[in-house]
Amino acid sequence: MPPHYPPLHLRPNSERTVRNGHPWVFSGAVERPPQDADTGDIVDVFDAHERFVCRGFYNRRSLIRVRSLTQDPNRPIDASFFTERIAQAIALRRRAGLAAHTNAMRLIHGESDGLPGLIADDYAGYLVVQFHTAGMEKQRPAILNALQSLLAPRSMYERSDVGTRRAEGLNDRPTGLLAGEAPPEFVEIEEYGTRLYADLYRGQKTGFFLDQRTNRFYLQQLARDQRVLNLFSYSSGFSAHALKGGASRTLDVDISPQVVPAARRTLDANRPQGSHSDLLIADVFPFVDELADRGPRYDIVVCDPPSLMRKRSQYKQAMGVYTKLNRNAFRLIADGGLLVTASCSARISQEDFFQIVRRAAAGARVRTRILAYNLHPADHPIDPAFPDGRYLKCIFARVHRPS
Ligand code: SAH
Repeated sequence: MPPHYPPLHLRPNSERTVRNGHPWVFSGAVERPPQDADTGDIVDVFDAHERFVCRGFYNRRSLIRVRSLTQDPNRPIDASFFTERIAQAIALRRRAGLAAHTNAMRLIHGESDGLPGLIADDYAGYLVVQFHTAGMEKQRPAILNALQSLLAPRSMYERSDVGTRRAEGLNDRPTGLLAGEAPPEFVEIEEYGTRLYADLYRGQKTGFFLDQRTNRFYLQQLARDQRVLNLFSYSSGFSAHALKGGASRTLDVDISPQVVPAARRTLDANRPQGSHSDLLIADVFPFVDELADRGPRYDIVVCDPPSLMRKRSQYKQAMGVYTKLNRNAFRLIADGGLLVTASCSARISQEDFFQIVRRAAAGARVRTRILAYNLHPADHPIDPAFPDGRYLKCIFARVHRPS
């Protein structure tokens, strides 16, 4: 007997994207909600012809009504299901060979690993977990058991203080130690020979931005004797790599005073003798506006803003903000220098980002050649059926000033 869960029925012709592998069923696609399922429960989704579509987490309030877990009607959603998915996610990272370069990586990346609403990051054996959705929240015991038995981490620390929980009807924002020893105030991690510090207790997200690892390393290889301006610097990871690679001077700019302790530690750990590094707490937008008027003064500018576009309606405005920001960055770069620019807005496409760089260069009256265009690292894998998970873009662009 195949397992059964409360049935949810879709409107005619509403099943295609889910059949193609997209994990979300939106409220507009639902013809009949399940009779006896509550938010967070597992439901079976059927099309208008009573054919099975998928099985997943139900949420009666969220715009995303169902988050699909499987399209296999014979697969029950039990503890072994989650253990298997988590083991697959861990195996994907192991086979990617990341451990040769770092002891910090994302082990579970939500929907992209078939585990909607679950994030787990490993910082030198200290695991940080986030439960984003009501469905995943209900599976908490199974998830924690699986992580414990598969990884035997030094500790598991929760950082579910994420805004998305509210849309799921989860109002509390739990944080705290779940198992094992309390992590140190700053966890030292290593990335391509660079020592970095993650602030698991107070840092943004789970304490560190793992997704820029390969871009930081590429900067390390290009930074010898260069003057570097690092915009939106957070814990100074880009500057740490630049200093490791022989940069003569770095200036980090971030708006949040909370970044200072981890940033200072990181800069001190990587600064070679004779180099300088400064950290400025300021709003980047007016800062670069004013600085750019004074002409080029850096060899490398790194620009890694937070997502500047959260809603579809902000598209035009966001394109304008990115373009102006990058134009100012270009204006600050000396002839032969380098712009390292990123966007983490999923709604700004790869094509959009090239447009931004093209317009910004034109506006700054520089010629540019793109040396590298990097997408996601292996610990933030992409499910091609889930475009929302494809968010990171980073361009390395050489700058030529016409004489
Ligand atoms: N490059 C970093 C990650 C940057 S995350 C790394 O490699 O780790 C984005 C950062 O931008 C956050 O630290 C946030 O505090 C900062 N930020 C957001 N708005 C800002 C603004 N207007 N001016 C300066 N910094 C800002």
